[in-house]
Amino acid sequence: MEIEDFERYSEIITNWIANYYREIRNFPVLSQVKPREIFDSLPTNPPEEPEPFEKIFEDFQNIILKGVTHWQHPRFFAYFPANTSFPSILAEFLTSALGIQAMMWITSPSAAELEEKVMDWLKKMIHLSENFHGVIQDTASTSTLVAILTAREKATNFEINKNGFSNQKFTVYCSEEAHSSIEKAVKIAGIGSNNLRKIPVDEKFSMKTGLLEQAIKEDVQNGFKPICIVGAFGTTGSTAVDPLEQIGEIANRYGIWYHIDGAMVGSALILPEFQHYLKGINTADSFVFNPHKWLFTNFDCSAFFVKDKRALLETFQLTPSYLATDFDRQVNNYRDWGIQLGRRFRALKLWFVLRSFGIKGLQDKLRYHISLAKQLEKEIRSDGRFEILAPVNFNTICFRYKPTDANLTDSELNEINKNLLDKINASGFAFLSHTTLKNKFTLRFSIGQTNTTSEDVLNTWKLIQNLVGR
Ligand SMILES: *Cc1c(COP(=O)(O)O)cnc(C)c1O
Repeated sequence: MEIEDFERYSEIITNWIANYYREIRNFPVLSQVKPREIFDSLPTNPPEEPEPFEKIFEDFQNIILKGVTHWQHPRFFAYFPANTSFPSILAEFLTSALGIQAMMWITSPSAAELEEKVMDWLKKMIHLSENFHGVIQDTASTSTLVAILTAREKATNFEINKNGFSNQKFTVYCSEEAHSSIEKAVKIAGIGSNNLRKIPVDEKFSMKTGLLEQAIKEDVQNGFKPICIVGAFGTTGSTAVDPLEQIGEIANRYGIWYHIDGAMVGSALILPEFQHYLKGINTADSFVFNPHKWLFTNFDCSAFFVKDKRALLETFQLTPSYLATDFDRQVNNYRDWGIQLGRRFRALKLWFVLRSFGIKGLQDKLRYHISLAKQLEKEIRSDGRFEILAPVNFNTICFRYKPTDANLTDSELNEINKNLLDKINASGFAFLSHTTLKNKFTLRFSIGQTNTTSEDVLNTWKLIQNLVGR
C-alpha cells in the first residue's frame, strides 16, 4: 500500500467509523452467528497474491462484522462496560501509526514520561495516597498477577526468583465472590489453587473478616505462610465491596501484602460521593482499576498502583536493584514494572481521554450511569413480579423474575430466568449476562456504555417486562 492509498483509505475508514457509531443501535447487540460460521466463510489458504484494500474491507463489512458483538452499543448491558470514546479511538490510531515499543525510557522518552504523568493525574483524580506509584498494565488480571508475584518475593526476601521453590507452603486469601483472575494468578505464581482461601461472604456479598482472620490463624498454625490478601472493591457478580479498612488492619497485623481489585468500579473514586472508600483503599499495598472498563479508554489500559516500588522492581528487573535505583530517580523503565518487555504506548489514549473529558466531564458521565442504575432499580422494585438480589452499589443491578402467584422452587426459577435471558439476548435489542448469587440464577444489568441513555435502559426494561408477559 502506497502512502497516497493510505491517505485515501484512512478517510474511508474514518467515515465508516463515524457511520457505525451513528447507526450502531440498528445492529443486534449480541452477534447472532452460529459457532464456526465465520471460520467456515473464510478461505482455507492464505492469499498467494496481494489483495486490494477494497476487497479486504468489503469482507470486513460482509463477514467479520456479522460475528461482532457490539460492545459499544448503548444497549450493551452484559458483563461490564469496556467503553471507548472518540478521543480514545483517535489516540489509538496515532499509537498504531507511531508503532513504538515503550519498554524503556530511551525507546521513547515521551511514552515513559507521559505514562508517569497520566498515572500521577489518575492518582490525584481518585485521591489515592501520595505514596502509591502508578504503571499501566494490559489487564487487571496481569496487575493482580504482578501484585501476587511481588507479594511472594517480598515475603521470601526475593528467594523464589533466585532458587525456585523448595518446600514453602504459601496461602492467598480473597472472598468467594472475588474474580477468577485471582485464582489464575495464584496458579501461575506457583502457589497452587488449593492454597487460595475463598472466604465466605455476608448477605451483602462482602467478605466476612472474622472468618478471614480465623483462616489466617489456622494456616499459620498448620505451617503455611500467608503472603497476600486480595480485597474486592466491586465484585464481578454484584459489585459488592469488602470491608476494605478492616481487611487492611488484618493484613497489617499479620504482615501480609494487601492488594485491592477495583477493576470496574474503581473509576467511581473520581466522584466525591464514593471517596469515603479511600480510607480502606489507602491501607493497601497495591490497587488496580481499569480505565478500559468504565473510563472511556479503549481496551487495553489497566491502572496498577503500588506503594513499595522497590519490591516491585526487585521482583521484575533483571539488573540488580542497587544499580538501577539512581537511574530510576530520573526516569522509569517500565519493562521493570511488570511481565512484558515490549509494551504498547497506552498512556497516549488515556491522556487524550482525560483532557477531552476533563474531570468534570468524566464525573458527569459516571453520575449519569449511576443515576440510570438507580432509576432502573426503582422500576424493578415497583414491579412485584421481579426481585432485586443484591444492593445496587454502583452501575450494576442484579435481579430475577419471580412471579408471586406461582409457587416456584429456586431451581424452577433458575430455569425460567435462564430462558428469559436467552430470549432477551436472542432479540438482538439488548445484551445482558448472568451470575449466580446464593445459588440463584441472577440477571445482571451493567450500565456504563459511553452513549447509553435513559431511553436505552427503560426500553430494555420494557422488553423484559413484555417477554415475561403482562
Ligand atoms: C473485569 C474484572 C477483572 C478482569 O479484568 P481484565 O482487565 O479483563 O483482566 C478482574 N476483577 C474484576 C472485579 C473485574 O470486574
